Amino acid sequence: MGQRGQIYFCEICRQKVEVTVDAFGVLVCCGQEMKLVEGMMETWTSVHPKPVGGTTYICNKCGQQISVVEETSGILECCGQRMERKDTSTG
Ligand SMILES: [Zn+2]
Ligand SMILES: [Zn+2]
Repeated sequence: MGQRGQIYFCEICRQKVEVTVDAFGVLVCCGQEMKLVEGMMETWTSVHPKPVGGTTYICNKCGQQISVVEETSGILECCGQRMERKDTSTG
């Protein structure tokens, strides 16, 4: 479903993620589908520069990968299960 470079956000907790590896899985946060940010990218990226070393999450089922732009306590899910946090510090 996701497409590389697309930004999704959660209407409940305002968590924002960028798709880095696209797959068919549907991104879910706080128990509901995340919304695709359309046409807002130029606006918000200029205000919120992309953070360096944002947390990456991976779906073990469909292989979708996302990079967290704005992290909250919301639980990220894909394909009906929690996405796995990829710890970049350990390589
Ligand atoms: Zn959320
Ligand atoms: Zn998935």
